[in-house]
Amino acid sequence: MTLTEIQQLRDVLGKLHSVWSRYDGDWHHKRAEGVVEFHYPNWFESGGTYEKYVTVEPTVGIYSYIFGESRWHEFDSLSDAIVAVKRWAKEYCSLLQEDYNLCPECGREFNNHTEVCMVGELMR
Ligand SMILES: [Zn+2]
Repeated sequence: MTLTEIQQLRDVLGKLHSVWSRYDGDWHHKRAEGVVEFHYPNWFESGGTYEKYVTVEPTVGIYSYIFGESRWHEFDSLSDAIVAVKRWAKEYCSLLQEDYNLCPECGREFNNHTEVCMVGELMR
């Protein structure tokens, strides 16, 4: 787990919620939306040595009422969490694509834009 990976997870979640907020955006009963938690196991569960304790990967929890299959999403690693959040982003962009002929962010065709707007970045 690196700081860059944490930033990547936060970046995708931030863009996803930002876009959702503009095009769906009913925040009623969603006060915990977007919580991210890292859980490191205790000394014993880590393996009981200094090396294992300082290198063990944390599990990642994400609370999302809006995205994913349940409200609380638990992942064995940060990389698993990033894969899932990118999938949520692609699924949400597909829903937007059903509702809009052109990207509502930048006005381009959905399949014809890459990084010019948040939707384009989420579809990458
Ligand atoms: Zn766009």
